[in-house]
Amino acid sequence: MAWGPKKDAVSAEVKSIELSLKQVEDAKTDMIYQLGELYYESNKDNESIDDIYKEKVDTIKKLEYNCKVWNNRKLKTQGLRMCENCGNTLPYDSSFCNKCGYKLQAVSEELVII
Ligand SMILES: [Zn+2]
Repeated sequence: MAWGPKKDAVSAEVKSIELSLKQVEDAKTDMIYQLGELYYESNKDNESIDDIYKEKVDTIKKLEYNCKVWNNRKLKTQGLRMCENCGNTLPYDSSFCNKCGYKLQAVSEELVII
């Protein structure tokens, strides 16, 4: 490989190609993410999905549950809770939602093991 201006031109071309490659890879990753999200949303309640998908779908459900638990813990430290029916934020010791009238259930505070 020659040194000097030619090498600079090659290295600029390589950088430009790497940038294009990264954009294509990022677009592919985003599409795969969107495909996974679509699959999850349309199959999360499907009891007869293939075993190769079931494990991942179940793990995502557990992760969603744990997100809810962490959100509940965060709200509780602020003296608050969420209505599981409409998403309204209420004082922690409320019995009914003051927005939708829903009878509030016990708040989930136990994480599931993944
Ligand atoms: Zn409500």
